[in-house]
Amino acid sequence: MELHQAIDAYCERVGAAFWAEPLNAVSNGAFLIAAVVAFVLWRRAARGTSGPDVYALALIALVAVVGAGSFLFHTFAVRWAALADVIPIALFIHAYLLLALKRYLALSWGRAGLGLLAFLALSPLIGWMAQFPFGSSSSYVPAAAALYGVGGLAWRRDPTVGKSLIGIGALFSLSLAWRMADEPLCSVWPVGTHFMWHIFNAIVLFLLLRLLICRKPGYTGGSKQFQETSRTGSRIEKSNGSPF
Ligand SMILES: [Zn+2]
Repeated sequence: MELHQAIDAYCERVGAAFWAEPLNAVSNGAFLIAAVVAFVLWRRAARGTSGPDVYALALIALVAVVGAGSFLFHTFAVRWAALADVIPIALFIHAYLLLALKRYLALSWGRAGLGLLAFLALSPLIGWMAQFPFGSSSSYVPAAAALYGVGGLAWRRDPTVGKSLIGIGALFSLSLAWRMADEPLCSVWPVGTHFMWHIFNAIVLFLLLRLLICRKPGYTGGSKQFQETSRTGSRIEKSNGSPF
C-alpha cells in the first residue's frame, strides 16, 4: 500500500492543495466542540456520587481524535491520512458497542465481548449486503443497525435508553444520507454535502457520550430526565448485583 498516494473522494476537492476541501476540513471542529461539551458533562457527573467514569473519559478523548484524524484526511488527502480518519472512528464504534452491551443490556464483560465478536463477524456481511443502495457508505450500515438493535433490546429494561439509542440511530441514518448525497448533488451544489456528515456525526457522537455519562448508575448531574431514570437504572443494576 502506497501511504502517500493521493485520494480524491469528495465533491468539494478539485485539486491537491492542503485547503482544497475547506468546508470538509473546518467542519471537523464540530467533533472538538462535541468532545469539549461532553467533557464538561463528564466533570459535572464526576463530582456527583457516580464518581469518575474512565471509560466515558476515554471515549470523549477518542471523539477529539476522530476530529483531528478527519481533519488530516480532508487536508493532506493521502492514504495514511485516510487511516488516521477511519481507525479512530472504528475504535469508537467498537468500544462504545462493548460498553453499551455491558451497561445498557446489563451483560457480563464476557457476554458483552461475545456480542462485540458477533458484530465484528457480521459487519462485513451486512456491509456487503448494503452495497446497494449505500455504495461507499455501506461500511457504516452495521453501526446504524447496532444502534437500532441495542436500542430495541434495551427498551424493555430501560425505555429511556431504548428510545435514546433508536433516536440517535435515526439521526445517524440522516447523517448517512448527507454522506451519500455528496457526489450525486455535486453538479448542482459544488461544495458537496460531506461537511454535513461531519456535523451530524458530531451531534450523534455527543448524544452517545451524553447517554453514557448520564445513564451511569448514581448520576446526579443536571438532566432531570436522566436523573430520574438513572436512579431507576441504579436500582436495576443493584438488583442484578453489579452496579457498573
Ligand atoms: Zn469526512
